[in-house]
Amino acid sequence: MPKINVLPKSIAELIAAGEVVERPASIVKEAIENSIDAGATHITVEIQRGGITYIRITDNGCGISGVDVPKAFLRHATSKIEKAVDLDSIMTLGFRGEALAATSAVSRVELFTKTYDEELGTHYKIEGGEEVLYEEVGCPDGTTLIVRDLFYNTPARMKFLKKDVTEGTTVAAVVERQALSHPEIAFKLIRDGKQTLSTSGDGKLASAAYSVLGREISNTLIPVNLTLDGVTVTGLVCKPVSCRASRAYQFTFLNGRYVQSGTVTAASEQAYKNSAMVGKFPVFILCVSVPFETVDVNVHPAKTQVRFSDEKRVFTAVYNAVKNAILSGDTRPEITITPQKKNTFLHMTADEYRQTAVNLPTQQTNKQTATTVKQEPIKPKTEPTRLKSDNTPFFLRDEFKPNIPVKKVEVDIIKEEPVKEILKEEPVKQEVKQEEKEYSPKEEIKLIGEAFNTFIAVQKGESIFLIDKHAAHERILFNNLKATHKIETQTLLIPISVKLIGDEYSAVVNNLSLLAEYGFEVEDFGNESVMVRAIPAMLSKDDVESVIVEAAESLAKMGKVDLERIDDILHTVACKAAIKAGYITSDTEKLNLAIKVLSDNDIMYCPHGRPVAFEIKKYNLEKYFGRIQ
Ligand code: ADP
Ligand code: MG
Repeated sequence: MPKINVLPKSIAELIAAGEVVERPASIVKEAIENSIDAGATHITVEIQRGGITYIRITDNGCGISGVDVPKAFLRHATSKIEKAVDLDSIMTLGFRGEALAATSAVSRVELFTKTYDEELGTHYKIEGGEEVLYEEVGCPDGTTLIVRDLFYNTPARMKFLKKDVTEGTTVAAVVERQALSHPEIAFKLIRDGKQTLSTSGDGKLASAAYSVLGREISNTLIPVNLTLDGVTVTGLVCKPVSCRASRAYQFTFLNGRYVQSGTVTAASEQAYKNSAMVGKFPVFILCVSVPFETVDVNVHPAKTQVRFSDEKRVFTAVYNAVKNAILSGDTRPEITITPQKKNTFLHMTADEYRQTAVNLPTQQTNKQTATTVKQEPIKPKTEPTRLKSDNTPFFLRDEFKPNIPVKKVEVDIIKEEPVKEILKEEPVKQEVKQEEKEYSPKEEIKLIGEAFNTFIAVQKGESIFLIDKHAAHERILFNNLKATHKIETQTLLIPISVKLIGDEYSAVVNNLSLLAEYGFEVEDFGNESVMVRAIPAMLSKDDVESVIVEAAESLAKMGKVDLERIDDILHTVACKAAIKAGYITSDTEKLNLAIKVLSDNDIMYCPHGRPVAFEIKKYNLEKYFGRIQ
């Protein structure tokens, strides 16, 4: 029969430590939480080699009194609870009295600490759980924790550590999240001697967001603030047009702690549905507060996933909070062209409808006139009834087809003579292949005009086309870039530095030569920023920051093959270089764009997947207006 042994204390400590300390970032997270609990207003984190060889966390908190220092390193030692109160809230707040014990079991720890009322502070050293130094020392109020040589005594665990830069990025993510959830604390992060983050601690989330996310992103953020059914949601979200290619900029804080919640993510993304483009993700920093007892806590402090006892309530609150913010912000209008469903006549009686006809303007103007028909207000044979929800316009329905006498009247119509341009070749009949159209450049295209400086309207054959000029131009440029693979470069007179975060920074730094192929001369500038020296000639220098940020996002996207990433960069270039909606375009430019769009079957959608043109068939218009049955 196998003999049962009790593990020696040191081995038991190592096993326990493994649960709490997985990597440098876990130590940093625990230490920052301790500093916050100690009331610090300044917290500085310094790491070397991703934190594997060296971590130092300095705070100006309450400090630990000399006699208590050794106790703080014992398992289940905590000053934060005195008796076994409510276990739920202990778990929720993460007071397990384990962090310092676990850290000191797997590394060499040094501590300097002093309380406000002590004259001298304490200098303490503990390596692999064994105290090696305990002395009085002169030091400032607060605590400095230094952790060296993580896992030096557990080589098997050391093997699981990732590359320095990856570990460093994870540490940075931890500090960034803490900085966002505590705008009242001034955080600093120093990586291998360079300061990469500094927040002001002025108490404003927008200031912390500016430091963490950079100017480009933080400029698009709008505030969120709503309490619904006991759930309070505050924070910042981006305008729909500023959604990103990845979820890298989504932060959820639950009762002040960073968490991951599928419910919060889904509710936020739902709020952007129909206003953001498919495949783009909102930027958000959302602070959700709910009563502690409604959270299902995962007792493991290293994990961040949470569940709510009432997911639906949280979903509804977050959805409404974000939706309200989007609606109140200055955002992109939604565009729906569904004439069949938006038929106002369906809500009118026949009589009401005839009244609207009488109200048509009748005075002669100096504009071009045309003839149309006006219905005399006559009483229908039977009392008009409100139309049911039937999609057939009433004038197409059998009961409303009396022989109405008509009278000619003159009404305003657009005066401008359509610019008409006939292409060199003789017009040929449009070929129709099983519903699918072949666009022939030889066909006559007439410019009708442009609405809102955005949508070009042309007539071609038996159809009217509405063309989104930005989407169309973007697609054309993209196709050209893809076909030629040649991008002319312009050198910037003054190089521009761009701040990036985490993965996106590493992605750019690892792809400098790829970017160079596409016309971007970019250098690593340290501090999670890059210096841009040259950009494709077709771009304006005002777009440098946004182009680089978008290219960085594309590059950082996981699981994408290189070709797709290159396409993403080309999309970005094409999008920035393309004419924007709202710009003034000459008639010749409009017509040329329309000719290009309608003569190339490959220009059906913009590179982001939005349609480039809408077709309205003459036949459908005639049917709609009751000219044909
Ligand atoms: P817990 O935070 O769960 O209490 P820790 O192992 O993280 O457990 O810390 C043990 C104790 O050490 C804390 O309860 C606190 O009294 C003290 N302590 C740790 N870090 C600090 C700090 N930065 N400032 C003041 N006290 C600290
Ligand atoms: Mg702690």
